[in-house]
Parts: sequence; C-alpha cells; structure tokens
Amino acid sequence: MYDFDSLIGEEHLKSKMKAVANSGKHSHAYLIVGEKRSGKTTLANCFAKALQCESEGNKPCGMCLSCMQMDAGNHPDVITLQSEKEDSIGIRDIREGLNNDIVIKPYRSEKKVYIIDDAQKMTRQAQNALLKTLEEPPSYAVIIMTTTSAEAMLQTVLSRTIVLPVRPVPDEQIRRYLMHKAEIPDYRADVFTAFARGNLGKAMDLATSSEFEESKEKAVALLKGIEEKPYPTLYVTAAELTEKKKSENLTELMDFIRIWYRDALVYKSTLREEGLIFREEIQYIKKVSKEISYEGFEDIFKALKKSQAMLRSNVNAETVADLLLIAVKDCRKEPED
Ligand SMILES: [Zn+2]
Repeated sequence: MYDFDSLIGEEHLKSKMKAVANSGKHSHAYLIVGEKRSGKTTLANCFAKALQCESEGNKPCGMCLSCMQMDAGNHPDVITLQSEKEDSIGIRDIREGLNNDIVIKPYRSEKKVYIIDDAQKMTRQAQNALLKTLEEPPSYAVIIMTTTSAEAMLQTVLSRTIVLPVRPVPDEQIRRYLMHKAEIPDYRADVFTAFARGNLGKAMDLATSSEFEESKEKAVALLKGIEEKPYPTLYVTAAELTEKKKSENLTELMDFIRIWYRDALVYKSTLREEGLIFREEIQYIKKVSKEISYEGFEDIFKALKKSQAMLRSNVNAETVADLLLIAVKDCRKEPED
C-alpha cells in the first residue's frame, strides 16, 4: 500500500510530487537522494502511483484500477529494475531491464514508469548506458531513481535528472511518532531520536533492535575512562571494532561519541540535566563536563568531522578508528607550546 500520508515528514517532496502528477507535466528522470532507510523507495513508489493514477481529481486517488494495481504490487506499467548482482547494477541490467524494455509502449497506461533503487550501485558503464535513454527518452517514459549519494552519479546523468533531496524529519516529529505510534516511553524515544538524526526508518530500527542496547553499553564502557586507557588498548579496540562490519560499527560508535560529548558540553554550558540523552550516566557526564575545556570539546567534534570525511574518501576504517580514539583520549590534554 503506497500512501503519501503514511510517510512522516517530507512535506516538500510529497507536495511537489503530487503537483507534478496533477499537472500532467512530468520530466523524464528524477533522482531521490537520501540516507538509507529514509523512505526513498516508498516515496518513489508513491510518486509512480500518483503519476499513473487515472483519476480526474487529486492524484493518487487510491481507488482507480491503476492505484489498486500499484498497491497490490502488480502494476504492468511500473517496473522496478532488477539487477543480477546484489551489490552492483551492471551494464547488462540497464540494457536488458531498461533500454530494451523502454522502447515497448506502455501496456495500458499513458506512461511507463521505471524505478531504479540504489542507483549509486550503477557502474560507470551502466550509467553511460542509461545516459543513452536519458538523452532521448520515449515521450511516455519516466525514470525514478533513488540513491544514497548524488556524488556517485555521473555528472552527465545528473544534468538530465531532477534531483529531489529527502530532508531530515524534524526531531520532534520523530519523537512523537515513536511515543504515540510505536508506544516507546519518552526517555527511550529521546535516545532513538538523537541517534536517528532525522531518519524515521533508522529510529524505528534502533527502537526494535537488541543490538543497539548492546552497542550502547559497549560504547559507554569505552568512553568512561578513555583518558586512562593506554594507547595499545585503544588500537586493539579500533581493530576489533572495524574487524567485521568495518565502517558500519565505526559510524555507530561515532554517533555515540558525538552524543556523549554533546551531552557533556550541554551540561557544561547550562548545568541542566534536562534534554540530555545519557541521563542515566549523569554522574559521569558531569565529571566529563568539568574535565574537558571548551577547546577540548571542539577538538572532539573536529575529529568526528574529519573521521567522517576520511570514511567518505575510503580511508581504511581501522586507521580512522585509531585516529579518532586517540583524539578523544587526548582532548583533555592542554596544548603544548
Ligand atoms: Zn488513482
């Protein structure tokens, strides 16, 4: 069932998509850009449903044959591209699934809509193959792509698509959703909201995952007393952390570090406990807030930013973890000069 109203937030995109569908004037290619679990695929399908809706009134109506086929997942003129491999979309996938198919007129609708999920997985050759279609698309064709990274797309492809960025859902909306729809108590809703950073799907994942609690305990154990841990211990931690899932675990730890020290900084400047995420560790948060100077906090947040940039440019995750943990350990040191 694809329903714009079931998506929390994204008002700007939803109204834009509805306006395009209702005006009947569409472009041939759209690119929805947003993090994992931010609702991109649902948005793409809602958009396809609205574009295909046969109602004379507001689209999508949810009642016409087209809308019903869409909800049942068997619309003959909405095609989600399948790829042979799980982690990449190759030239053959695009040629066979899109280029050769798009020249065949729609089955019963006026339009034929293609959805390419995770378009960042397209190889360069695949994107170049797609480009051929984007340069001269049949009048009835609409291609809706979703991607976690617009930078992974060739400039030539980007220049022929309308980019639709998914914006973070405001924290308050996520919090309310968790409390009222998912019946999560407020203090836990605060934690998940802080970690989700505007991504409702992620918030829901965290709320239902037992792994999260485990990682939280591990992170707290690491951060408590990190200043006294010898460097070799930190190197071992960094190696263990990045051993299996590599950057994924590290990204998660970075979130813990960010929120842990954000709490301490908020306490340092306000001396108030409300709004803190790690309230159950308040004694320790207070201690940290006294021990670290404002410059020290700045160093930590800078180190986090740097780590993120390094991961994005594919620096080895263990190296990034080493440098980050050392920076966090050393933030209490006064600069030597
Ligand atoms: Zn309809």
